[in-house]
Amino acid sequence: SLGKARVEVFRPASRSDANLLSDLDLVVELRRAVERKEIFLQYQPIYRADTRKIESFEVLARWRHPQRGIIPPDLFIPSAERNHVINLLGWSILGDALQELAKWRSMKLNTTFAINFSPLQFLERDFSFKLNRLLAKFGLLPNDVVVEITEGNLALQSDQFLEKVDGLKRLGFLVALDDFGVGNSTIANLRDLPFDILKIDKSYVQNSDSGSKAAAILPALVEIAKASKLATVAEGVETQAQLERVQALGVDFIQGYFFARPMDPDEALFLAKEDCAL
Ligand code: C2E
Ligand code: CA
Ligand code: CA
Ligand code: CA
Repeated sequence: SLGKARVEVFRPASRSDANLLSDLDLVVELRRAVERKEIFLQYQPIYRADTRKIESFEVLARWRHPQRGIIPPDLFIPSAERNHVINLLGWSILGDALQELAKWRSMKLNTTFAINFSPLQFLERDFSFKLNRLLAKFGLLPNDVVVEITEGNLALQSDQFLEKVDGLKRLGFLVALDDFGVGNSTIANLRDLPFDILKIDKSYVQNSDSGSKAAAILPALVEIAKASKLATVAEGVETQAQLERVQALGVDFIQGYFFARPMDPDEALFLAKEDCAL
């Protein structure tokens, strides 16, 4: 229907087509996008495996580009990281998420928000100071948020990185290691890692019923997490079979399209209220 304002999803035909947004243009455009509030947030529930109640919502950024339609984060976060716009973007996303969370708290909803941070932003010198200041501005506490960090490059082998994780935990934040299993540096050192939660990458969950290599790795990842006394989240659960498999392995939390896709804040709020009343 031509009359309706319809949003088109920007889907490049290939990876290299993503460079249609040349990095140079992207820096300019992303700064403008933040000013013009084109970045918006969706929320995906994370459920407790045992009670099936909502524990948290992961905050996921999207870009409503005036010409290109909705751009998914995989197509702008990496460029933002390469071009040092990620900090500006990250703080803006956090502010928006905390504003939303403050509204939920005023309605007596107590789920946490899990927020993704680039290792680059995380490594900013005054990261935890700024984080605390923003929380205070909205009357929130450290344990209202889960800080999700991906094991980027060699970050996990750096003392600076691990000390920061430790520092955040001491301040009362929950810290999750995202995309667990993808990197190769972690597993050997895992016992020393100061995280609360491991999020098992969806590639291991989704191939878990195929008899593939991933199917063999998944139980090992869960075992490692348990041995380290860390809570586990299985992400990307799409089917009943995958759900049964991760539950049989004793995963603590479950996230995926099988239960819910990322959704707009009002829908998420509605779901949270409903879940709370159960
Ligand atoms: P992630 O942190 O691993 O987030 C989970 C991704 O898996 C999300 O993709 C989510 O929509 C998707 N997902 C959840 N359940 C399922 C499922 O059952 N099946 C499938 N196929 N996918 C599922 P999304 O929203 O496209 O985000 C992609 C990545 O972009 C995120 O991966 C994260 O690394 C990054 N990202 C998103 N928002 C932010 C942000 O605010 N800041 C930063 N630094 N990175 C972000
Ligand atoms: Ca994440
Ligand atoms: Ca992940
Ligand atoms: Ca990811």
